Formats: sequence, structure tokens, C-alpha cells
Amino acid sequence: MPQRTFSIIKPDAVRNGYTGAILAEIEKAGFQIISIRKQSISKAQAEGFYYVHKERPFFDSLTTFMSSGPLVLMVLEKDNAIADLRALMGATNPANAEEGTIRKKFAGSIQENAIHGSDGAETAAFEIGYWFAGYELI
Ligand code: GDP
Repeated sequence: MPQRTFSIIKPDAVRNGYTGAILAEIEKAGFQIISIRKQSISKAQAEGFYYVHKERPFFDSLTTFMSSGPLVLMVLEKDNAIADLRALMGATNPANAEEGTIRKKFAGSIQENAIHGSDGAETAAFEIGYWFAGYELI
């Protein structure tokens, strides 16, 4: 059954000119792009998005990074989308990412790691609703 997930091409990857290459990987893996928007976000918007990490030592640094330049917000759909996107992304730290994954190919550090993908169904629902209105998801 088709499932939706939420993804971000992070500011490092946009800055490095990898937007098109990452979109190509996503489409090659069978995802439909339901909605997509390039924009910059504020520090407060980044803090709201990552509120589950607010106690982590890297919260300030992460939210500063995420608001440091344009990024690409996306809602993606395919069978098993949430787990399949996580597999396509690779490990959080690109040093540990498997060959062929997006983070192995395009990420530079544990923080500036090219792509975000929802880690579960509840998270996906929150994240899609945080960035997209219902009328954008038809
Ligand atoms: P993900 O689900 O693989 O994106 O990883 P997490 O949910 O654990 O962390 C969210 C994001 O925080 C990661 O994608 C990184 O951008 C960043 N992050 C995670 N761990 C660290 C860390 O140890 N240091 C820093 N600076 N950033 C981190």
C-alpha cells in the first residue's frame, strides 16, 4: 500500500549543487514526488521542527545549520516509503553510511548530512503537516 514520508534536501546539499542529483536518486528508487518546495527557514521554524531533539547538545548548532540557507522540502510516496527512504539515505554519520546511499555520496559530516527523512509513521504525519497544507498534497 502506498505510504507517504517527509524529506528535506538540507542546506549543505543545496549549497553544494546536489539538489538535482539527490532528486534523481529519489526518483530512481521509485518515489513519487507529491509536493516539493525550495525555501529558507527561520531558526524558530527549525527549532519547532526538531523539538524532539531540544535537549540534545547539538540542538543549537543543528537549528542554526538548518536555517543557514535554502533547503528543499518534499512529500514522497511509494510502498514502504518511510523505511525505504531511510535505507536510501544511509546512516546519520556519513562515515558509517553504506555504499550507494545518498549520505555516502553527498554528505560531509554528521550534522551536514545532505538529507532528512521521517523515522516513523507518527513523525511523518507531524512533519508533513508542519510544512505542507492539505491542499498542497492532492
Ligand atoms: P537522522 O534521523 O539520521 O537524521 O538522525 P537524528 O534524528 O539522530 O538526528 C537529526 C539530525 O541531527 C541529523 O540528521 C544530523 O543533522 C544532526 N545530528 C545528529 N547527531 C548529531 C551529532 O552528534 N552532532 C551534530 N552536530 N549533529 C547531529
